[in-house]
Amino acid sequence: MTQAHTARSERATTLHSALDAVFEEVKGDLASLVAIPSIAWPAFDQSHVRASAEAVAALARKAGFEEVDVLTAQKPDGEPGSPAVVAARPAPEGAPTVVLYAHHDVQPTGEESLWNTPPFEATESGDRIFGRGAADDKAGIMVHLTALRLLGEDLGVGVVLFVEGEEEAGSPSFRDFILRHRDRLAGDVFVVADSGNWAAGTPALTTSLRGMAALEFTVSTLDHAVHSGMYGGVVPDAALAMTRLLASLHGEDGSVAVEGLVGETAAHVDYEEAALRADSGILDGVELIGTGTLASRVWSQPAVTVIGLDLPHVDVSSNTLQHSLRAKLSIRVAPGDTPENALAAVKRHLTDHAPFGARVEFGEEEAGSPWRADTADPVVDTAMAALGEGFGTEAVQVGLGGSIPFIADLLEVFPQASILVTGVEDPDARAHSANESLYVPDFRRAIVAEALLLERLGGRSAEGAGV
Ligand SMILES: [Zn+2]
Repeated sequence: MTQAHTARSERATTLHSALDAVFEEVKGDLASLVAIPSIAWPAFDQSHVRASAEAVAALARKAGFEEVDVLTAQKPDGEPGSPAVVAARPAPEGAPTVVLYAHHDVQPTGEESLWNTPPFEATESGDRIFGRGAADDKAGIMVHLTALRLLGEDLGVGVVLFVEGEEEAGSPSFRDFILRHRDRLAGDVFVVADSGNWAAGTPALTTSLRGMAALEFTVSTLDHAVHSGMYGGVVPDAALAMTRLLASLHGEDGSVAVEGLVGETAAHVDYEEAALRADSGILDGVELIGTGTLASRVWSQPAVTVIGLDLPHVDVSSNTLQHSLRAKLSIRVAPGDTPENALAAVKRHLTDHAPFGARVEFGEEEAGSPWRADTADPVVDTAMAALGEGFGTEAVQVGLGGSIPFIADLLEVFPQASILVTGVEDPDARAHSANESLYVPDFRRAIVAEALLLERLGGRSAEGAGV
C-alpha cells in the first residue's frame, strides 16, 4: 500500500516537472483563447465564436491531432448552431476511447465597469489569471490538450476531443450534433471538464447535477385595469393575487412548499456557513433559507425562484388595479426527480393556491433533466484516485446546484458510457461574474490529474484500471 502510494506520487511528480517545461507556453495559449470574445448569444457578433473554434482547432493540431474538424449542427428552429471542434486519435486495438469535452464559448461580460482588468485580456495577478473564460471553460480546453501533450504518442487509449461552442447559450444544437456525429463522438468514457473543485487545492468529482425547469404563467382577476379609488378595497387586483400566490411557494423558513417535488437533505461533504455567506455575498443579518445540510439545499433539494414579474415600473406606475400579470419561475430540479414531474407539481400548486378565485393560465416552459452518476462504476474510483494523486489531496464527490442539461442528451445517445464531470474552477473563480479567474496551482494539478486518469484508463499505470 505504502509502496503503491510512493510509486504514484513519483509519477505525479514526473508529470509536474514535465508540465513546468511547457507551462509558460500553455498560459500563452490560454491567453490567446481568452482574447477572443466568443459569446454565442444571438445578440453578439458570431464571427468571434467562429474564430475561437478555429483557434481551438489550431491548438488541437499543434497537440498532435491529425483529424481535426470544425463542425456545426442544427438548432430545433432549423438555424445552424455554433461551431464545435472535433478531433480524434484512434484507440489501439481493444483499448477504450475517452472523449474529452469542454466548451470554447463564454458568458457575456456583464457590466464592464465591475471588472478590475480588461475581460478579454488574460491578466496574471498573484496565483490567478483573470479574464472571461479563463476558468469557464477555456481552461478546460487547455487541461485536455496539455494532459495529452504530457503523455505524448503512447497513450494506451483512443481520444476524441470535443469542444462545443454554445454551452453558455444553452447548447441548442447539441442534441442534433451528437446524433449527426455519433460515430465520431462515440466513446467509453466522457470527461466533461466544466465544473469545479471543492476548495482551492481539494479536487472534486461532480457526481450529481440539478436539472432546470422554467415556467411562465399569468394571474388575472379583472377583464381590464380599473381606477384604484373607485374599486380598491373591494375588487382584488392581479398584483395582490400574484404576490400571495408567489408567497405560497415557500414556507416560513424559506423551504419550498410545493407538494410532489423530490429532494434529499444529506450530502457527503458540507459547506461551512461562514464560507457560503462570504461567497454568496448575503448581507449581514439576512438568514439562510431551507432545511437540511447546506450542501443538500444547493445540490439535492429543489429550489423555486421568481425570476421575472411584469408589474409596471415604479416610475410609470398609476393608481390602477392591475387586471392581469405575468411571472416566470425558475425551478431547480433535484437529482431523482424529472423536470416533467416538477413542472406538473408546480402547476398543480399554482392552480390549487390561487387566491380569491383568480385565474391562472400557463405559458412557455423549459425542461432540462437532473443527473446522478453511477458511483458504483469502477471508472469513478479510477477518476477519484487520479484526482487525488494529481492534486496530492484526497478527492471528494460533490453535487452541483446548477445544470448541465446536455449530460442527459449524452446518456441518451451513449447509454453505456461512463461520464466523469471534472473541472478547474475553485469557489473563488467567479465564473459568469465580473473578475472571473483561474487559480493557477489547481490548473496545473488538474492537468496532471487528467494525464494520470488517461494513463490509468489505458492500463498504463501500476494500478492499471482499464474500462
Ligand atoms: Zn462552463
